Amino acid sequence: MFSLDDTIAAISTPIGEGGIGIVRLTGPDAEAILKQVFSPAGGAPETNGFAPESHRFYYGQVVDRGSGTAIDEVLAVLMRAPRTYTRQDVAEVHCHGGIVPLRQTLKLVLRSGARLAEPGEFTLRAFLNGRIDLAQAEAVLDIVRAKTELSLRVAMRQLDGGISEQVRAIRQTLVEALAHVEASLDFPDEEIPTLDVAAVLQQSRQQTEALLAQADHGLVYREGVRTAIVGRPNVGKSSLLNALLRTSRAIVSPLPGTTRDTLEEILNLRGIPLCLIDTAGITDSTDLVEKLGIERSHQALQQADLVLLVLDGSEPLQPQDWQIAELVRNRTVIVVVNKSDLVQVADHQAVQPQSTHVVLSALTGEGLTELEDVIEATVFSGQVQASELPVISNPRHSEILHRALNQVIAAQHTILDHGTADLLAVDLTAAASALGEITGETVSEDVLEAIFSSFCVGK
Ligand code: GDP
Repeated sequence: MFSLDDTIAAISTPIGEGGIGIVRLTGPDAEAILKQVFSPAGGAPETNGFAPESHRFYYGQVVDRGSGTAIDEVLAVLMRAPRTYTRQDVAEVHCHGGIVPLRQTLKLVLRSGARLAEPGEFTLRAFLNGRIDLAQAEAVLDIVRAKTELSLRVAMRQLDGGISEQVRAIRQTLVEALAHVEASLDFPDEEIPTLDVAAVLQQSRQQTEALLAQADHGLVYREGVRTAIVGRPNVGKSSLLNALLRTSRAIVSPLPGTTRDTLEEILNLRGIPLCLIDTAGITDSTDLVEKLGIERSHQALQQADLVLLVLDGSEPLQPQDWQIAELVRNRTVIVVVNKSDLVQVADHQAVQPQSTHVVLSALTGEGLTELEDVIEATVFSGQVQASELPVISNPRHSEILHRALNQVIAAQHTILDHGTADLLAVDLTAAASALGEITGETVSEDVLEAIFSSFCVGK
């Protein structure tokens, strides 16, 4: 997968009926193969004389020279290296959208000497040829997958290289400190300019912590705001869920990897991805199976970024309401007083008085817009607002940052404990090499393969 010597090809547009579909190829033989399969309009039937200018579209046909049949009427473009996505020659054939001409064109390209691209291989080449770094390559993946405007914006920011720059800067200071420590090891008798390694470490630690502080919020964008709907039976939790799903121009999709134990659905609420967790069954129960379910509900609650606590406005508050309110006391809670279409009996303000209360009817939809307003405002209130720092929207990155931070802290301890320069060098090396995994400077082939294979083919 890491070879750059052959020419790869794939259909680069989504499968399905579209206005056009693109077969893309890149590699040393891209131009030769394009000349094999493409015949420009008005050109001689044998296209040996076809000398395309770089970055210019040509109108013509894809022709199977074996049988002489024309496959599709197309636009073709050759982009010569290095001004291309992969920094190698890239050729594109823009076919009519149907799957048949696309497949036939691809087949012809493969028969002419290209190999079918692996998932993510175009982007892998861009990375291997130094056009983008690893964090940016991952951003491409995120953009392809982005479910909402917000996650798209975060991914775009990462593509700008914001996170890479900051990580590189931290790594650079650590590497300098390491060089200093090693010099004092290698040349113990030389006069070495003093460097306050402890100060460098403290600064790196603060910068890493600042990046990490953003990480949680970044995760929010990528995976959705984890939202738990809780309440005792029959207050209308399922009805509320359904009402929310209906009004949001919902992109409802099952989340990969979820079990049937807790139901999770992604819903696009005004561009904010909400991962709704159905916690049906937070009640006292003696039934064992139900108990297991309840345990899971508790777990789901622990992971929730946001809790919708549902009460029944047409009934007096019950002990169970208070119990559940107690469970979620320290969470970010929005209290939903449901069934506003019925006569309201109780003063529900007493429950979670510090939280926002929204009175609504899941049945009629009255008040639902207000709930969406409140959810939106809560998500954006400070905690998830765009800040100066690039957001780390990638779990791989936050795991690495944690690792690097621990190594920096270990180095600080080594200094405090008057450890040897040897030990300090080990800590510094580990921290610097961890950070390099974000940008791809020190990453292993296994990790690369895992990242790029989660791309779609043709990207
Ligand atoms: P859950 O057990 O909390 O999930 O509650 P459900 O969503 O199953 O609702 C329980 C009952 O309350 C059902 O009969 C619903 O039709 C009814 N219900 C839910 N929301 C409303 C509402 O806003 N107004 C009225 N009148 N009934 C509702």
